[in-house]
Amino acid sequence: MGSVHAWQAVPARHAAPAGRRTGLVGKRRPWAAWRILRGVEIVEYKRVMMLASLSRLSPGGLTDRLYQLRTQERALLVELLWHIAEVDRRRLYLEMAFPSLFAFATGFLGYTKAAAFRRTTAARLLARFPIVAGHLADGRLNLTTLVELRDVLDESRLDEILRRAAGRTEEQVKELVAALAPRPAPVNLFRRLPASSAPAAPTNVPAGSGPELAPAPTSAAAGSGPELAPAPTSAAAGSGPELTPAAPTSTPTRPAARLEPISEQLRVLRVTVGADFAKDLDAVRAALSHKIPDGDLAAVLHECLRVTLAAATKRRRGAGRARADAAAPTDSTSRYVPAAIRDAVWRRDDARCAFVAADGRRCDSTHQLELHHLVPFARGGAATVDGLALRCKAHNLHEARRDFGDDHVERAIARARNANHHQFDLW
Ligand SMILES: [Zn+2]
Repeated sequence: MGSVHAWQAVPARHAAPAGRRTGLVGKRRPWAAWRILRGVEIVEYKRVMMLASLSRLSPGGLTDRLYQLRTQERALLVELLWHIAEVDRRRLYLEMAFPSLFAFATGFLGYTKAAAFRRTTAARLLARFPIVAGHLADGRLNLTTLVELRDVLDESRLDEILRRAAGRTEEQVKELVAALAPRPAPVNLFRRLPASSAPAAPTNVPAGSGPELAPAPTSAAAGSGPELAPAPTSAAAGSGPELTPAAPTSTPTRPAARLEPISEQLRVLRVTVGADFAKDLDAVRAALSHKIPDGDLAAVLHECLRVTLAAATKRRRGAGRARADAAAPTDSTSRYVPAAIRDAVWRRDDARCAFVAADGRRCDSTHQLELHHLVPFARGGAATVDGLALRCKAHNLHEARRDFGDDHVERAIARARNANHHQFDLW
């Protein structure tokens, strides 16, 4: 048909492959790869070419190649962990305005919380016990089993534990940990709680010992602290309610608290509470029964949250104190920061850590906020709105280290600990 021009037929028949290819590149673009878009396109092209040749591999060739890749993957993992450990050693994440190594692993490296937790935990274990590098490289340990061992590894029985964990499954390693650990039980195994009239379970699970706090414990915690149910529990969740093997005590362990989205607007909060909590809850329901007649649990808890937030704000602003003291001259010999100044700083910084990295990234953590003297108090920094800024505890410490050195900061922390102070307002 002479009337149909070639250019009219072309789009319908040949546009699809071109579109598919674009779609492939677009959809499979790894996280933040827009920074290296050209690189990604090249990688995608190579991948497509490799897949074409893969289909021609013999079964033996295919499994050989796969085994080789598996070996490389392990070696790469060890190398990756060493790099994370070095970032940790230099505290580089702080300089980059992340409040913790964990926040760096999620925010900068793009890992999920579970993956970030495993890698940062493993990196710190590797730094403490370099011998595990070999175990990871040859597969005697994997990321999951190494992380399971985090609370039981120590120098005195390192060889024995590594030998007993070598080549074991996740479940077997959990059993080993349960047998070795002096603490109640590995918390990331869910245990069937007594059905009713449970003995009040004031399980004093040591802070940071369980996966419900998992990414948070101590040093890794800053910034990720207040999160509920960080992902590592997901691995355990799959194993469902189980009885803990070789549990040294019969005290039920609390499952991790979880806050799970079920729609854009709705979340399901699951939290295991003690009898004392239930008793207080009944009392609060009764106290609020005029305001919330049906005693709706979500409404009652939300009211509690509002009251707590209001109290925290009031405390910050200084209860009943005149706001006029912002204008009052501050005594340069006193550490006292007038409430109105504190409040102004708080509002200016939007109740978030205002540490900014060289590239302009702002920390924005809301965890354990402290007032920071831009010019250290010890060097005459005045308590004015311009002289103060909000910092998360990690960044306040970071800047103190920079200003005064590690030794000074360690001594100050020790003093604060002895005095039972929770804020290190000492520089
Ligand atoms: Zn910060």
